[in-house]
Amino acid sequence: MLASAFAVGACVAVGLYFSTRAVHREMEIARLKSDFVAAVSHDFRTPLASFRQLSELLLDDRVASDGDRKEYYRRMYRESGRLQRLVEELLDFARIDAGAREYRLECVDPTPIVRSVAAEFTAERSDRSITVDVEVQGAVPNVRVDREAFARALWNLLDNAAKYSPGRNRVRVSTRASDGRVFFSVSDDGIGVSRERHQDIFEKFVRVTSSAVPAVAGTGLGLAIVKHVVDGHGGRVTLVSAPGHGSTFTIELPAASLS
Ligand code: ADP
Repeated sequence: MLASAFAVGACVAVGLYFSTRAVHREMEIARLKSDFVAAVSHDFRTPLASFRQLSELLLDDRVASDGDRKEYYRRMYRESGRLQRLVEELLDFARIDAGAREYRLECVDPTPIVRSVAAEFTAERSDRSITVDVEVQGAVPNVRVDREAFARALWNLLDNAAKYSPGRNRVRVSTRASDGRVFFSVSDDGIGVSRERHQDIFEKFVRVTSSAVPAVAGTGLGLAIVKHVVDGHGGRVTLVSAPGHGSTFTIELPAASLS
C-alpha cells in the first residue's frame, strides 16, 4: 500500500518536473521570438528612415555640393544593400525552419569566393573603413559547396566579427587545408564569447547582449544559418574565443577529392 502510494507520488513529481520544464522552455522561446520581432523591426526601421531622409534631401535639392550628393547616393546604396541582405536572410531562415532549404553543390575552388566575399564586405562598409585581411596558406583544394550558401555563411561570420569588435577596424579570414579537410577561419580582436555560450549562440534567435556593444543590430539568426549551411555540406563549425580576447570561428569542410 505504502509502496504504491510512494510510486504514485514519484510519478506525479516526475510529471510535474517535466511539465514545468516544458512550460519554462515554451516561455523562453516566446521571449526569444518577441525579442526577434523587435530586433527585425528595428533592423528594418533604421535603414528605411535613413533612406527616406536622404531621398527627401535629394528630391528637394537640399544638397550643398556634388560631393555631398554622391555621398547621399552612396549611403542609399549601402542602406538598400543592408535591407536586401536582411530580407534574404529572413527568407533563407524561413526555408531552413520549414526543412525546405536544399543546397546545390558544385565542385569549386573556394579561394575566389572567399576573396570576393571579403571585397564585397569591405566595399559595403567603406564608411567604417573595415579592412578584411585575406590569407591563403598553401595550396587549397576544391570543395563541394552551394556557392550562395557558402558565401552567406562567410559573410555572416565577417559581419559578426566586425559588429562585435567595437573600436577595431580589421578582421581576418584565412584558408588552409590539412588531412583532406579545408578550413576557413574568421578572426577578430573583439569582445569574445564566454565558454558557456559557445554552443547556444548557434541556436536560432539566441543573442548575447553586452554593455561593450549595447546597440548592435541583429536578429539572432546569423550563426544558426551558418551552422545549417555547414551541416548541410558535411562539415562543422568551431569556435575559439574568450571574453576580451577576440574570436575565431572556423568552418571546416571536406576537400572535394575525398568527399
Ligand atoms: P546576431 O549577431 O544577430 O545577434 P548571431 O546568430 O549571428 O546573431 O550571433 C549570436 C550571438 O553570438 C550574438 O548576439 C553575439 O553575442 C555572439 N557572437 C557572434 N559572433 C561573435 C563574435 N565574432 N564576437 C563576439 N560575439 C559574437
